[in-house]
Amino acid sequence: MVYPIVKFGDPVLEREADTVTEFDTPELHKFLADMFDSMYAAKGVGLAAPQIGVGRKIAVIDCSNGENPAEKLVLINPKILHVEGKQVGEEGCLSIPGFREQVRRGKRVTVRAQNAKGEEFEMTGEDLLARAFLHETDHLYGRLYISHVSALKRDLMKRKIKKLQRAGEWE
Ligand SMILES: [Zn+2]
Repeated sequence: MVYPIVKFGDPVLEREADTVTEFDTPELHKFLADMFDSMYAAKGVGLAAPQIGVGRKIAVIDCSNGENPAEKLVLINPKILHVEGKQVGEEGCLSIPGFREQVRRGKRVTVRAQNAKGEEFEMTGEDLLARAFLHETDHLYGRLYISHVSALKRDLMKRKIKKLQRAGEWE
């Protein structure tokens, strides 16, 4: 099932999601499959549960855009353990469509998370994967990438979004 993507302005995107405590249930497996379907339908490389209106600490990532099943990742209750180096590049978010901004992020990032069975694992990613770890984990704590751009740019984006909202082009 493909869920609609929740857009900036919905409070679910700006509050910390709940920790997942039940694993390996049919409901969780179905939800994860739906998250991947929703992410691919929206042409994203990552999706966090709050973006489909579900306040639980679950994110999916696939930097291959569905080309390589080995790159499908499930992060449940993720925590960023280590960040090193710097990369500056364009970043966007499915919940803030039509916008992309330069965002400075760590280049090499280690995350600790649980998989669908509740097993804990650690993984280190670089470049795009490092950026996805940070971006999606941020979502689960109610933080959006616009909190990493300058106040000036953020205000400009918010003004443009308000205009779209008023015009009925943001739902
Ligand atoms: Zn996002």
